[in-house]
Amino acid sequence: MSKRAILHSDANCFYASCEMVLNPELRDKAVAVCGSQEERHGIVLAKSELAKKAGIKTGMTNSEAKRLCPNLIIVPPRFEYYSKFSKLLHGIYERYTDLIEPYGLDECWLDVSDSIKSPLEIAEEIRQAVKDELGLTVSIGVSFNKVFAKLGSDLKKPDAITVISEENFKDKVWNLPCSELLYCGKHTTEKLNDFGIHTIGEIASLPKEFLERRLGKNGIMLWEFANGLDLSPVSHMDFRAQAKSIGHGITCVSNLENNDEAKKVIVALCQDIGYKLRKSGLLARGVSITIKNEHLLSCSFQARFDSPIWDEQSLANEAYKLLEKSYSWSFKIRALSVTAIDLVSSDTPMQANIFFDASKEEKKKRLFKAIDELNNTYGKGALKPATVLDEKKMPRNKNVEVTLPGGMKLK
Ligand SMILES: [Mg+2]
Repeated sequence: MSKRAILHSDANCFYASCEMVLNPELRDKAVAVCGSQEERHGIVLAKSELAKKAGIKTGMTNSEAKRLCPNLIIVPPRFEYYSKFSKLLHGIYERYTDLIEPYGLDECWLDVSDSIKSPLEIAEEIRQAVKDELGLTVSIGVSFNKVFAKLGSDLKKPDAITVISEENFKDKVWNLPCSELLYCGKHTTEKLNDFGIHTIGEIASLPKEFLERRLGKNGIMLWEFANGLDLSPVSHMDFRAQAKSIGHGITCVSNLENNDEAKKVIVALCQDIGYKLRKSGLLARGVSITIKNEHLLSCSFQARFDSPIWDEQSLANEAYKLLEKSYSWSFKIRALSVTAIDLVSSDTPMQANIFFDASKEEKKKRLFKAIDELNNTYGKGALKPATVLDEKKMPRNKNVEVTLPGGMKLK
């Protein structure tokens, strides 16, 4: 097998950095993105470099963080923006390869083995492009396997590149504590420490059988990782096997007051879900809706289908039926989300429902294939049902429109 070239790119202080691009006034300040600011139990989800220097740690409560760093600026999370930034990052990665495997919103593995450019050259171009075009920074690990690439991206940051090669990995990796190794969690690290094993090099030099006896399969895996023998491939960017659900939600501009208004929002939300289901080759066997009322209280309802669903029309019908049946409208609705759940691959054999009409189903498939093609050609949303066209209650951007350093507008 020829040598592989794997990058792991990790966006630095991701949520906090996104907030700084969205609001430049936050730049060079101690910033923390915290869940539920009003509640006492809000915790720090992410922090800026300066906040980190002040000792702020992820998971701290808001009040602890404030005590530690009185001039800390606390902002609430805006995940819809972080996911937009994440897509833009992927867009930069896609210039080099379609073997892109995300690990959370802000990290990705890239396999660039087939590229004419050297992996270091690509890493350098990505690092620069992310900075110039998005105003974010990444740290990148360059290596011959995924585990070391990930480890490398942690070694130097922010805005840095670390190469871990077959030649230098013993020098660069083996002195590090076991816990730096992917999947070597707290529990495993404690066990290893109990055996007197503290570094990755010590894992590597033990007999494999010893680790297998003590830690089972996990022990073999860690031994292979430590010795640079991780052969796991980087998945293709279209690979979505890990998706257990596909959902979409919004906070409405004005509260929804009745079923008709809610239906429009449901239909709109389902557009994206149906498209994603087909693109990922998945079927939904159920749907869940989550409603947040005007007093910010949430409730969820679920329904299972007789036969699995792959299109937005059926999904919207089922989601609406569920809402109609379950929600009494004692309060107006402020936010609504629909999630296709219990997903299975579309090639899973299914027992046919006795009411199943094969020719109707075939026609529907042809129709949606045409819709997808149009949307692919003319952009998502080129074709949509008439109910969606009335967008009175659809979310507007109450927030800013930001021009990114590269000139692109983020809305
Ligand atoms: Mg990160």
